[in-house]
Amino acid sequence: MMVDHWIGGRRVTSPVRFDDISPIDGSVLAHVSRACPYEVDLAVDAAERAFTDWRRTTREQRAEYLHKIADGVEKRIDELAAVETSDNGALLRSHVRGVMPRVVHNFRFFADWLVDEVSHPDFDTRGHTNHVSWDPAGVCALITPWNAPLMLASWKIAPALAAGNTVVLKPAEWSPLTASLLADITAEANLPDGVFNVVNGYGVETGQHLVNNPKLRRISFTGSVPTGRAIAQAAAANLVPASLELGGKSPLIVFADADLDLAVQLAVEQYDNAGQVCLAGVRLLVEESIVAEFLAGFLTRADALKQGDPRDPSTDVGPLVHRRQLERVDTFVRRAKAEGARVLLGGGPNTDLGGLYYRPTLLADVQPGSEILTEEVFGPVLTVQTFRREEDAVTMANGTRFGLAATLVTGDEDRANRVTEQLVAGTVWVNCFFVRDLRAPFGGSRESGIGREGGNWSFDFYCDVKNTVTAGQGWRHG
Ligand code: NAD
Repeated sequence: MMVDHWIGGRRVTSPVRFDDISPIDGSVLAHVSRACPYEVDLAVDAAERAFTDWRRTTREQRAEYLHKIADGVEKRIDELAAVETSDNGALLRSHVRGVMPRVVHNFRFFADWLVDEVSHPDFDTRGHTNHVSWDPAGVCALITPWNAPLMLASWKIAPALAAGNTVVLKPAEWSPLTASLLADITAEANLPDGVFNVVNGYGVETGQHLVNNPKLRRISFTGSVPTGRAIAQAAAANLVPASLELGGKSPLIVFADADLDLAVQLAVEQYDNAGQVCLAGVRLLVEESIVAEFLAGFLTRADALKQGDPRDPSTDVGPLVHRRQLERVDTFVRRAKAEGARVLLGGGPNTDLGGLYYRPTLLADVQPGSEILTEEVFGPVLTVQTFRREEDAVTMANGTRFGLAATLVTGDEDRANRVTEQLVAGTVWVNCFFVRDLRAPFGGSRESGIGREGGNWSFDFYCDVKNTVTAGQGWRHG
């Protein structure tokens, strides 16, 4: 299969292609056009041209387009789910039941939110009226990772388009297929040419050239910290606002007063998507007095996880996305072992399955300050450490340069409030995990990112917020 860019409402081919390989069996899924600067600039120019008319549409008109796109995604959930599973190896059943319905919701939510919620009452300053408006900003570059390709892209596409901007999306080179299908869906929804564009290619080539383009008005990025840094530098050069959703090394803290069964369940959930989840609570911090009981429950449950083909509905843990990712994960585990870490579960590739399957792994006796505790592994690798006092748990939880999320399991509400207040994290879950409401802010502190997405936070980012002060009170603004 050939996959080409989507620029100005038509397919554009590059002279050079790269192979998109399935992590399930190593088969070549597609030969994908690899954008050089010419195609990237073509896409930005198409988006800039389309902006002239698109910005003049009303919020309601744009919402209608987004609902049509949502309808199109909804009709093709099974196809999109199957394609994305073959592309990034995430479980088919999660795609069908959870991820793709969320993509639909993302489009509907941001369409309706702009119409219903984004406003500010006019106010008076010594007889002058202040009127706040959210104006479209212009061309937005959206750059996304492979671990939840369409889901993460639609978090950005929906508010960017709803706000009246036009978009150039650069999906990850390891999972480009559903972005291309989304382009077809936008065409079926009669979205005007050039409002939504997709360019494919490698990050350091296509992505870097895109973010260097001086015509951009916004850059929204989800991905790793090193890439976030490169994008922040490009954004700084052109003084373009950039939203950065980056990596994490989140803690899951279990206090002795916790519902132990719940704690075990939440801890085992951290292996979802083979651990390739930015929010995963990969550092299990367990109060010393219950660690033996906790580990007994955890190991029983984690040992029962079924690893295998992600298309099989009975599979719990699929493959890693790419050979390079498997090697990266294994290198971290090997080095931790060499430093004295004790393997309580897994500890290496699943040789029974071969390919890119890595066993769900739990490491104990890890060296304080070592890389396995401070660097993002992005695979099914958890560590377990113990603490005695609440303040030690907080210090350990905050002891990395990240601040994306934290989960705590406790039966004591006062403790939950006390600890939450001290945690450095964009999201804290108490006695739950992965609950995400689009009305809520989402993002990271410290090196986990800059900015927040969700509800008004998205529109504050994707719009030029303007205040108009009119003398007297005679005129009303629309
Ligand atoms: P990555 O940073 O390698 O790549 C992400 C995207 O950036 C890809 O599309 C890539 O092609 C592009 N890119 C790479 N170099 C670029 C450059 N110089 N200029 C412009 N674009 C460039 O990340 P990844 O490996 O695809 O994804 C995994 C990372 O994403 C993990 O660190 C994970 O924590 C993070 N992530 C964060 C969130 C969040 O919401 N905070 C969500 C999912 C994933």
